[in-house]
Amino acid sequence: MKIFKKKKIIRKVLTAIVCDRCGKSYNAEEEEYNEDILEIQEFLHIDFVGGYNSVFGDMNHIKADICQHCLKPLIENFARINSSDYRDNAVCVIE
Ligand SMILES: [Zn+2]
Repeated sequence: MKIFKKKKIIRKVLTAIVCDRCGKSYNAEEEEYNEDILEIQEFLHIDFVGGYNSVFGDMNHIKADICQHCLKPLIENFARINSSDYRDNAVCVIE
């Protein structure tokens, strides 16, 4: 027989994401209708550690959360934006 008791657990819950470039805050609360959810899904989250000879410094931890409105002007001059890439690279296995 297993015997249980009720126990309060404290956990971290994401409540907002703030763009590190423009400072705009987006509501991440789980609500019935949250219009910021679609914006949050388009965030770019950078999180890596610089290796030997990195321009960011050896073993430095680099993090940034960037909204799509800030990301676009940063990369649009060199990014390859193609609506058909996803379909062209799809793998189809026929057995
Ligand atoms: Zn932004």
